[in-house]
Amino acid sequence: MRVVVIGSGIVGTSVAYECAKAGAKVVLLEAGRIAGGTSTVSFAWTNATGKRPRAYFALNVAGMRAHLELKRDFPDAPWFFQSGGFEWRTTPAGIAAFEEDVRQISEWGYGVEWVDRETVARMEPDVTATGEGPIAYFAEEGWVDPALYSAWLIRAATSRWGAEVFTGARVVAVETQNGRVVGVRTADGTQIAADHVVNCTGGLSGLELGDAPALPLASTVGVLAFTPPVALTLRSHVHADDLDMRPDGAGRIMIHKVSVDDTLSEPQTLATDGPEATALLEAARAVLTGLEMVPIEAIRSTVRPIPADGLTCAGEMPGISGYSVAVTHSGATIAPQLGKVVADEVVRGRTHAEMESFRPSRFFATGNSGTPRRAVA
Ligand SMILES: Cc1cc2nc3c(=O)[nH]c(=O)nc-3n(C[C@H](O)[C@H](O)[C@H](O)COP(=O)(O)OP(=O)(O)OC[C@H]3O[C@@H](n4cnc5c(N)ncnc54)[C@H](O)[C@@H]3O)c2cc1C
Repeated sequence: MRVVVIGSGIVGTSVAYECAKAGAKVVLLEAGRIAGGTSTVSFAWTNATGKRPRAYFALNVAGMRAHLELKRDFPDAPWFFQSGGFEWRTTPAGIAAFEEDVRQISEWGYGVEWVDRETVARMEPDVTATGEGPIAYFAEEGWVDPALYSAWLIRAATSRWGAEVFTGARVVAVETQNGRVVGVRTADGTQIAADHVVNCTGGLSGLELGDAPALPLASTVGVLAFTPPVALTLRSHVHADDLDMRPDGAGRIMIHKVSVDDTLSEPQTLATDGPEATALLEAARAVLTGLEMVPIEAIRSTVRPIPADGLTCAGEMPGISGYSVAVTHSGATIAPQLGKVVADEVVRGRTHAEMESFRPSRFFATGNSGTPRRAVA
């Protein structure tokens, strides 16, 4: 079976790797550079906290497990850090909502415990647990380096199973005959035959590709700031209200804050001394006391791909036989599981019943011919 995967972010490389491993002849087509889209501007925290409904929570947990399973294929897995993380809130409303989330996910079997401030100080001496609310510790959580993840999976897919990878190959059309996929066409006119095409274009899946309809998206913008290398011993990821921080290699600290994301309506080039960087640094300094003399070295913004109802969209498109999509927020967490699901369904012919609520069909009304019409969401 010939499978063409469009897009080489963390989702596309997972799909390409698992499909090649399952025995498909895989061609991965990337418009730019490998993992050069959202995946390399991601906080990339592997977690299922706050994820609802239950099916979406379970999909995120499956993603966390799938990261661990990948270590069987790659014992070193130099992209994966199951470091554990601390999280707390400082406002009464935030504390109440957080306690309820922890109660719920704990009942669902998630690894979480309440810890005191002495424990935080002992495990992470650089961290000040602000406020007086309770602090949760999530031992099973961690983060990934998506570029390294993609690099290693692509290397394995090409060297072990003969997958082919083309960069600078922008797909402009998915081509069909009689309602069945026959291949794709790239911007330079090259046609590549396929029995199945999987669209993993993230935030660009909201564009029509020839016979393939656009997915309805409700994408938002995300901003990340990075310090230069700093002499801190932080190993865990830390979350205080809407602030997220974690190590990013060589002593750099990655900083994210939802309220800063919310100030932008589209990705743009930001200044390292601009208002976004200043807001991120000030918030980070309140929690990581060693950042007093430290500036922001880089700040990036990008699109966060989110299907219109906020949930993952994965599976075959109604009305186009042989065409699937795999698009999600929380892709850093879910990607390895999505790769397995797509490979099972497309290559091995095994349907995943737990994916029923994530199918693209929920967005489309189909015409009499079975062709997908307008998105309904
Ligand atoms: C600030 C921020 C923080 C985040 N934090 C987390 C987090 O903590 N945990 C988590 O799990 N998730 C997080 N996410 C979400 C996560 O990063 C994304 O869900 C994930 O990176 C999406 O990966 P992707 O492979 O679908 O998309 P991308 O990485 O964007 O990859 C899509 C690729 O497709 C290519 N492409 C597009 N169109 C074409 C075409 N026509 N032809 C060929 N190639 C094409 C692009 O060039 C790109 O390389 C965060 C996102 C942001 C922005």
